[in-house]
Amino acid sequence: MKILEIIKKWYRKKTKSWDDICNRCGLCCYEKEENSSGVLVINLKKPCSFYNVSTRECLVFDNRFKKNRRCRKVGIFQALFSAYLPDSCAYVLKYRAKMELIKDWRNK
Ligand code: SF4
Ligand code: SF4
Repeated sequence: MKILEIIKKWYRKKTKSWDDICNRCGLCCYEKEENSSGVLVINLKKPCSFYNVSTRECLVFDNRFKKNRRCRKVGIFQALFSAYLPDSCAYVLKYRAKMELIKDWRNK
């Protein structure tokens, strides 16, 4: 197998396993605001214009960052620190929990 094919295969596998973490709740595809206490509030009356509320799918997923300049990639940094992801986001639950475990382990 050529090196490029190996890299492509590895990248596809890595991307797929990352995307599989998402539980498709769609909450990151709605307008968000901060209330007066600084708490994230998701406005369920205002979905992104590319979001299909019935199927919970993005209509432009493969080109989402080109079609919507406000669409943000969810990577490990966002999973750990971004304020715009809800606490119930599968990435937040998975990675912030790991961060807490590491903190606990370091404090022992
Ligand atoms: S909030 Fe998190 S789990 Fe929900 S759709 Fe967005 S990335 Fe996926
Ligand atoms: S463009 Fe981005 S914010 Fe809009 S529906 Fe697609 S993934 Fe969600």
